Amino acid sequence: MKQIYLDHNATTPLRPEVLEGMLPYLTGHFGNPSSVHWAGRAVAGALENAREQVAALINASPAEIVFTSCGSEADNFALKGTAHALRNKGRHIITTQVEHPAVLETCRALESLGWQVSYLPVDSEGQLDLVQLESLITSETVLISVMWANNETGTLFPVARIGEIARRYGVRFHSDMVQAVGRVPLDVRAAQLDLAAISGHKFGAPKGVGALYLRSGTDLEPLIHGGHQERNRRGGTSNVAGIVGLGVASELVGKELESTVLQLRGLRDRLEDGLFAALENLKLNGAASRDMRLPNTLNLSFAGVSGESLLLNLDLKGIAASSGSACSSGTLESSHVIAALGVEPALAQASVRFSLGRENTREDIDQLLSILPPVVERLRKLSPL
Ligand SMILES: *Cc1c(COP(=O)(O)O)cnc(C)c1O
Repeated sequence: MKQIYLDHNATTPLRPEVLEGMLPYLTGHFGNPSSVHWAGRAVAGALENAREQVAALINASPAEIVFTSCGSEADNFALKGTAHALRNKGRHIITTQVEHPAVLETCRALESLGWQVSYLPVDSEGQLDLVQLESLITSETVLISVMWANNETGTLFPVARIGEIARRYGVRFHSDMVQAVGRVPLDVRAAQLDLAAISGHKFGAPKGVGALYLRSGTDLEPLIHGGHQERNRRGGTSNVAGIVGLGVASELVGKELESTVLQLRGLRDRLEDGLFAALENLKLNGAASRDMRLPNTLNLSFAGVSGESLLLNLDLKGIAASSGSACSSGTLESSHVIAALGVEPALAQASVRFSLGRENTREDIDQLLSILPPVVERLRKLSPL
């Protein structure tokens, strides 16, 4: 049985070119990049090379890249760092109801420390109302944080238009770009971003490395106090091999963007068309327009079926996908993102996310198309509904 991985929004396989680039830094080049002797110098150059590669991917300059331990750290750094740096200017933050927990939970933590947070709702397609966003800005507002693309539905947000609003009011703008890397063109200058987060393992680099884009001149309170690493912005000896891998992956996805988008969109459309042709009572979660979604993401509710049992049945046949709902202590909790779309609880629990990657083929999609519809029909017959 061929195993098929369709959960690339959770993590991606390490690319062989990335591993090859990293290996010397896990073996011979062991130096501490902060050391001034030969062992350190050999490694410091590699860090700066990776900084250039990451910067080039998002149209930043290398000095604006701060390496972190993951995407979550970059989001925490952006939000907490801004909140603390601007605490005397104002204590209000605007974000959305559909952010990743790395942003949402950080906002909740700031609320418990006295900050005010507005969580913008989304419409049934997962889209924001920018008039509403603008109306929430007050003299106390110091930060707007809106993700570039949603990890569960793939819905893309009008980041450049939000950047224009933020700039007009003199409010800082952060975007969690984690899901957008390698899937849509990214330009932090055109989007007028002050801060942005990326994560290596979502685009072929290893787990445990990420980066924060920090527009030059933006002051941020460090999250990790310590040595002078990362120009005094983040203490701690650098994860050299991981950072080198992040650089290689950034260069690769930048070069391949056009062909990757064509490939992913072709496979996603094939899956979407095939499932809608084979099954009734399917509901698409996310933007109706395919161009307003990430090219690799398809989130569907299979009415009358529990998403969990569908995933278990797919897993038995070697197919890895994921559901928006997580089973915690025996109760099925619906995803906050699907709930925010206004999807009724039963349909929310029937949602499954397929997220494709560059190693997926037409054969993978066709195998899924032959396996999934009969499983859904069988589960529907068993269902008491
Ligand atoms: C995965 C993910 C993160 C967290 O990145 P980690 O490197 O796993 O901490 C943040 N935001 C989004 C949208 C993600 O998909």
